[in-house]
Parts: sequence; C-alpha cells; structure tokens
Amino acid sequence: MSTNPSWNEHSVVEYAKSLDAIDPLRRFRDEFVIDDPDLIYLDGNSLGRLPNRTMKRMEEAVRDQWGGRLVRGWGEHWIDLPNRLGAKIAQLIGAQSDEVLVCDSTSVNFYKLIMAALEVQSEKSEILTDDANFPSDIYLLQGCAKQLSQRLKIVPQAEVASSLGLETAIVTLSHTSFKSGYIHPMQELTAKAHEVGALMLWDLSHSVGAMPIDLNGSNVDLAVGCTYKYLNGGPGAPAFLYVRRDLQEKLLNPIWGWFGQKDPFGFSLDYRPADGIQRFMAGTPNILSMIAIESGVDLLLEAGMDRIREKSVSQTEFLIQLWDNFLRKYGVALNSPTDSVYRGSHVSFGHPQAFQVDQALIEEMKVIPDFRQPDNIRFGVTPLSTSFEDLAQAVLRMSAVFEQGIYQKYPEQANGVT
Ligand SMILES: *Cc1c(COP(=O)(O)O)cnc(C)c1O
Repeated sequence: MSTNPSWNEHSVVEYAKSLDAIDPLRRFRDEFVIDDPDLIYLDGNSLGRLPNRTMKRMEEAVRDQWGGRLVRGWGEHWIDLPNRLGAKIAQLIGAQSDEVLVCDSTSVNFYKLIMAALEVQSEKSEILTDDANFPSDIYLLQGCAKQLSQRLKIVPQAEVASSLGLETAIVTLSHTSFKSGYIHPMQELTAKAHEVGALMLWDLSHSVGAMPIDLNGSNVDLAVGCTYKYLNGGPGAPAFLYVRRDLQEKLLNPIWGWFGQKDPFGFSLDYRPADGIQRFMAGTPNILSMIAIESGVDLLLEAGMDRIREKSVSQTEFLIQLWDNFLRKYGVALNSPTDSVYRGSHVSFGHPQAFQVDQALIEEMKVIPDFRQPDNIRFGVTPLSTSFEDLAQAVLRMSAVFEQGIYQKYPEQANGVT
C-alpha cells in the first residue's frame, strides 16, 4: 500500500472495493448474521458478531439436548465441554490441548491464577503490572494484594521491564491494551520476568482471535482471556484459562469446588485436587453459553490465524491512511501505535469531543464504534466480517459528523454502558 495517498470520497470507496474483491477471507462475512448491511459494526473487539452456525447449534442444543435428553445430556454431550473447547482454543494460542480450560469469567479465572501463583511465590513480596491494564484486572490485583499482604506496583507501560526485581512474585499484563491497542512483546517480557524468578500471567482478552499467539513458544506460565470479543462467543460467554503443563501439579485453585475435585461424583467430604488442568474448574459449567462458543472458534481455525492477522494489519493500516486523509484536519489524533508490529486489531482515535462524536455516529450515522475514557473512539477490526468498504464508509461518515457539526447536540458526559 502506498503511503499518504490522496483520495476523495468517491475514489476511496472504489479503492476499498478493489481491496475487498481480492480479499482471500471475503467469504467468511456470509458466516455471520448481518441484519442491516448499511450498519457498520466496528465493536467486534467488545462483543463479536453472531455466527449463523451458532444460531442453529443453540437451537439444537436447547431443543434436542436439554429438552430431549434432560440430565442424560451431561454424560452424552456436556461433561467434557470445558476441556474440548479448551483444546480448540489451545490451537489459537500456541498451547497444548490439556493446558487450556473454558470456565467462569475472565475476572474469576484471573483471580484463581493470581492467587494460585502467589501462594507458590510466597517468599516474594510484589505484584507488578502496568497502568494500561484493564481495570478489572487491576481491581482484582488490589484485592489479592490485600488478601495476601503483597505490594502491588503499577508502573507506566514502558517501565515494566525496568521495574522487575528479585522481590517480584508475578508480572501480569494485558497483551493488547484495551485503549490504545498497543501489543506488549510477549516473549521478551516473559523471559525477563523469568530471569528474576517471577511468574508471568498474560491477559489475552484483546488478542485471542485477532492475531497468532505462541504461549508455549514464549514459555508463558499462565494466561486468561475472553471468548465474547474476537472469538464471537456471545454476551457473557465463559472465559478460558491456560496453565503450562509443568505448573499444573504445583498450583492450587483457591476456589475448592466439586468440579475441580479428583472425583466429583464420589461425593467424598474431603477436597482432593483433580489432576492436571481440571483442578482449575470450580462449579458446574455454564453449558448453554459454552455451546455458543464453538462455532466462532471453528471459523477462526478454518480461516487460519496468520491470514486473519495479515488482513487485520492491512485493515488497521488502511484506517490510519483514512485518518490521515479525512480526519486529521478536524483535530483527531491517532492514539494507537503507528508500527503495526505493536498494534492490535483496533485503532483508537483521540478527540476532546470523542464521546459526542461516538454518540452521533451510533445515533445518526449507522456506525457502531465505542468510546473509552477519556478521549478514545475505538474502531475495532474483525477481519472475518469487516470489509475495507466498511472502514472507508465509517471514516467518511465520521468526517461528516465533524463537517456538519452533528456531534454538538449530544451530551459531553458519558454515563452507563459505552
Ligand atoms: C474484556 C476484558 C476483561 C473482561 O473480564 P470479564 O470477567 O469478562 O468481565 C478482562 N480483562 C481484559 C484485559 C479485558 O479486555
């Protein structure tokens, strides 16, 4: 792609269509429910679209499995779903099939793994994270630190490596930052954490399904991630956790539930942790929500993460060129890295009136991005369903919001779900 091309409104749409025409992943768009073709959805990094196959699968699961098989469904379909789905997600993140489990929420899994890690690192005194981490992760760390009398050190993004010390028990970071889309160098930081004897936990919520990840290749200890973002698992879908195989027997789940017990149906009154990854289960899995996850993961596996990343990079690159041509003149800043090596699959645009612009796009322009405090409008690219034409049209509509002053009638303050 040329740098700084000069486009007008017509030529840029034609150019975008020519990119769509040669896109090898083009056919995957038809795999998703797209009710209104004129609505441009750029929030798949927050809630992924619904795959057509998932609708069919859910209907069968509810009618035939729950309705028809009743409690027999456990043995026939459901009991090993957390492992079976975990094994599929393992293929997306460079892990072994017995190192990943689907269960609970990201926040709960994060708590389980942080507490488990701190227990074996009890001679050390500090938890290290950065201030670009997701607030839920930070809150959980504050709670864990209080519970175990550890110190929580929150440093600027660029100072993680230099803040490591022999006192560091665990380092935890969001691999891709939810605001800027910055990607931390996983292998390098994991190796540095190991040099001082710290364990490393990566939150993959904004990375999984958007780019290839190599947990084993980077010798990562622990990881968690969401399935309702780029994996298209549906609102509130259960999350996953990863524990490297050699650590599984050394760590204990702080939540001693019966599904993590060695023999749940032995109904013994004493807790004995199950072998392997199984011990990180807590209670009965959310079967219906779990069933909704599989088709989205299958689509990613079919498309291949390398091809998805390739398209994602050319789409975020295109968005930045569009910004340069059509948005910069209105005082819109680029809040994401310019180097694609360090950029995930969303681009954040900064503007003092970002919240108003976001509302105008949603209410009047049929574009759905999202707003993140204090001044970010995020355009999320989900390569299986986002077209280049979507991106060109969204940016043109955003420039119209500025040109015609449409944003001015919206309130300046955000409240509620954004
Ligand atoms: C989305 C996200 C979460 C959400 O956690 P839930 O328990 O599903 O609410 C956690 N961490 C990160 C980094 C996220 O991006």
